[in-house]
Amino acid sequence: MRARQTVWGLMAVACSAGTAGAAREATPEARVAARPPMTGGNRHYTGSRPPLAPAPLLKLPVGAVRPEGWLRRQLELMADGFTGRLPELSGCCRFEDSAWADPRGRGRNGWEELPYWLKGYVVLGHVLGDVRIQQEARRWIEAILRSQRPDGWFGPESNRAAPDLWPNMLAVDVLRSHFEATGDNRVPPFLKRYFRWQARLPLERFLPADWQKWRGGDNLAAILWLYDRTAEKWLLDLARVNHERTADWVGGIPTWHGVNICQGFREPAQYWQLARDRRYWDAAERNYRIVMERYGQVPGGMFGADENARPGFNGPRQAAETCSMAEMMHSHELLLALSGDPAWADRCEEVAFNSLPASMTPDLKALHYLTAPNMVQLDRQSKAPLLQNGGDMFSYDPESYRCCQHNAAFAWPYFAERLWMATAGDGLAAPFYAASTVRARVGDGAEVAIREETDYPFGDSVQLTVSASRPVSFPLSLRIPGWCGSPGVSVNGRALPVQPGARGWLVLRRTWRGGDRVRLHLPMSIRVTTWENNRGTVSVSRGPLTYSLKIAERWVRWGGADRWPKHEVYPASPWNYGLVLDEAAPARSFTVLQWHGGLPDQPFTVRDAPVQLRVRARRIPQWVLEPNGLVGEVQPGPVTSQEPEEEVVLIPMGCARLRISAFPRIGAGPDAREWGDSVVLDASHVHDTLAAVADGVIPASSWDQSIPRFTWWDHRGTTEWVEQRFGRPRRVGSCQVYWFNDEVVGGQCRVPQAWKLLWWDGAAWQPIAAGHPAAGDAASQARFAPVDTTAVRLEVRLRPGWSAGILEWKLAP
Ligand SMILES: [Zn+2]
Repeated sequence: MRARQTVWGLMAVACSAGTAGAAREATPEARVAARPPMTGGNRHYTGSRPPLAPAPLLKLPVGAVRPEGWLRRQLELMADGFTGRLPELSGCCRFEDSAWADPRGRGRNGWEELPYWLKGYVVLGHVLGDVRIQQEARRWIEAILRSQRPDGWFGPESNRAAPDLWPNMLAVDVLRSHFEATGDNRVPPFLKRYFRWQARLPLERFLPADWQKWRGGDNLAAILWLYDRTAEKWLLDLARVNHERTADWVGGIPTWHGVNICQGFREPAQYWQLARDRRYWDAAERNYRIVMERYGQVPGGMFGADENARPGFNGPRQAAETCSMAEMMHSHELLLALSGDPAWADRCEEVAFNSLPASMTPDLKALHYLTAPNMVQLDRQSKAPLLQNGGDMFSYDPESYRCCQHNAAFAWPYFAERLWMATAGDGLAAPFYAASTVRARVGDGAEVAIREETDYPFGDSVQLTVSASRPVSFPLSLRIPGWCGSPGVSVNGRALPVQPGARGWLVLRRTWRGGDRVRLHLPMSIRVTTWENNRGTVSVSRGPLTYSLKIAERWVRWGGADRWPKHEVYPASPWNYGLVLDEAAPARSFTVLQWHGGLPDQPFTVRDAPVQLRVRARRIPQWVLEPNGLVGEVQPGPVTSQEPEEEVVLIPMGCARLRISAFPRIGAGPDAREWGDSVVLDASHVHDTLAAVADGVIPASSWDQSIPRFTWWDHRGTTEWVEQRFGRPRRVGSCQVYWFNDEVVGGQCRVPQAWKLLWWDGAAWQPIAAGHPAAGDAASQARFAPVDTTAVRLEVRLRPGWSAGILEWKLAP
C-alpha cells in the first residue's frame, strides 16, 4: 500500500460549491483532486485485479466512444487513405499469400507488418462503425484464431524457431481489441493456451534478444490484461519472468533506438502494478526525463532520434519516426491510466496535436518516415549523416516507409477510444478533449450517454450534455490541463467555484439527469518557452498547441499512381526568421487571430489553420539550407539581424508540413551574437564541462585544477570524439590540444593513446592530422594545409583502462 499512496504525492485541494440554488436540485460539488476517484471500485468495467495495483482510469470497450468533429474526420480520411486501403499498397497485407492467414503459419510476410496494421485497423473499424473495415479485419482475426497449434503457439511458423515473440505481441493486441468490441469468448482461452506455451519456454529462449527484448513491456501488458479477466495466478508468475527477461529499463536506458525508447521506457511502471514498489514507477519517469533532457529540448513532445538518438545530434532539426509518435502516445495513454496523473495526458496531446498530423498528407493518403520541429524542405535527397537514417525519409509516400506505413494505423484510433474512461465509484472521466459521444454504464448500472461538443484543441470551451433514462448518481472527472491556470466549470448554467491554480481533475459528484449540461472553460494563454539547453531557441504555445512559422508550400509530385501520388514539398516563402520578442513580457509580443464559425473539416492544413498568431520577426540571411537540403542548424541566440522588422504569421505546428517551431531569438543587447560567430560543441560522451573545451582559458599545466575541464570519464580505453561546429565556414590550418592529465594526484585521466583531427566536407568527415601524444605531454600541436569547413572533430583513442580529458582545444587559420 505504501507505494500506491506515495507515487503521486500531488496536492489535493478540495473546494466545495456553495449551496445556492440547492432547493431546486441536489447540491453539485466541484472538487479538485490530484487523481480521479480511487475508492468504491467499478462494477461495470474490468480494472486491475488484486494483488495488482488498482488503475485510476479503466479503458472502456472499443466502440463505447464515438468520436465526432475533426477527430472523426481524421478517422474517416484514414479509412479512405493509406491505412484503410493498405492491402492495395502493401504486399504484407494481402490475405492470399500471408503467413498470418494460413492455419499452419506458412507463407510470406509473417513478421510485424500485418499485425502492426491490423492492431490499428480493427480499432478504426469499431470507433467509426465502418462495416467494411470490421469485416476485413474479421477475416484476418478468424485466420489468426484458426492458426493456434496444439501446444499453444499461433501465427507464422517462421517466428517460432528463435522464437521471435515480437510480432505475436502485436497480434495479441489485435485479439484484445476484438474481444473488447465483440465479446468473442474464444479469445481468453486462446490467449491462455498461448501464454502457457510461453511459460514452458526455457528461459534462454524467452525474450532472448533484439526487438522482443526491448519491447517486452507489450507482452507484459497483455499478460496482466488476461490476469484481470481470468484470475489465474500463474499469469503473475509469467509476468515476473517477463520482466526479468525484458531489457533492463530499470537500471538505465538499454537502447537508444527511437521507437524502442518510446515503447520500452514505460516497462518498469507496468511492472510496478505487480511489484508495488514505487522505485519501479520512478524508473519509468526517470527514463522519460533523461531522454527528454538530452534529446527532447524542443517543442512537439518528441525527441530527436532519426533512427537512434545520438550524442551531438540534439538540435530542433533532428527528427522522430512516425512509429515513434504512435508508440509515444500509447505509452503516455497507458501511464495516464495507471497513475491518473494528468501530466501524461498533457504529454500525449502534445504529440497528437503538434507532431503527428504533419507526419501525413492532409488527405492521409501518404506519410513520411521522419518529422522534426524544424524542417523546411521535404525533398527526396538523403539527409545522412546529419540525420542518421539515409535515403528518402522526408517525401510523402503511401508505400515505401515499411514500418511506419503499417504502424501509424493505431495512433488516432487508440487515442479516440480513450477520450472517455471509467473510474472508481462507477464514474466516468474525460482525460482528453475532442468532440464525441460516449455511452457507458455508471452508478447503479444505468446507461448514460454524454455528448461532448468542443473545438478543442483550437477552442477553449467544452460543453457536455447528459442523456439518461433515469437519474443516476456518479462522479464525473474532467482533466485540468497542466497549462491551464484558471479553469472554470458550470453545471446547468450555475458556476461552481474552482480555486485558481488548481491542478489535477475536477470531480463533479451529483445525481445526473437527462438534459444536464456541464460547461468547462479552459482559458488558453500564450506561453513562450526558452530552450536554454538547446541553443537558447524559443517556442510559442497556446493551450495544447505549439505554433510554427507559416511557410507557403509548393507540392511537387514525383511519382506514384494517380490514386496514390508521391510528393516532395518545397518552401515558397522565406523561412529563415528569428523572433523579435518583448524582453520583459515575451507573451505580449503576439496577437491571436481566431477563426469564426465552425472548424474546417481538416483543420491540420496551412490554408485552413483555425488559429493564427502574429508576431514581429527579422530574417537571418546567413541561415540557409545544408547542401543536402536539410535546414541549417539553429545557432545559439540571441542573434543579431540587420534586416528590417516584419510581421509574420504563426500557425499550429500540426498544420505546418514545412515548419520552424524552435526559433532563434533576435537580440540587440551585449549577449547577442552575429549568426555563425558562435561555436556549438558536441561530444560522444560528456563528464565535467563541455564548454571548457573552447572557453579560451589556457591551463597552467596539464593537471591545472583551477579551471573548468572536459573529460570523457567514466569511459576508458574506448574511442571518443569532441566536435566544434561553426555557424558559417571557417578556415582551419592549425590546432592545439591541452590534454588533462591527473596522474600526479592519482586520478583516472591520462593523455590518450592517439588522436586524429577530422574536418567536415559537407557530406563526410575527412582526416586532416593525427598524432600520438607522449605521456605527460600538456599540449599536442599540428599544422596542415588549411581547409574551409563548418565543423571539425577530434577523435581520440583512450589508453586501455584509462579515461582522458581536455582543458582547451584551440583552432587557428
Ligand atoms: Zn516506423
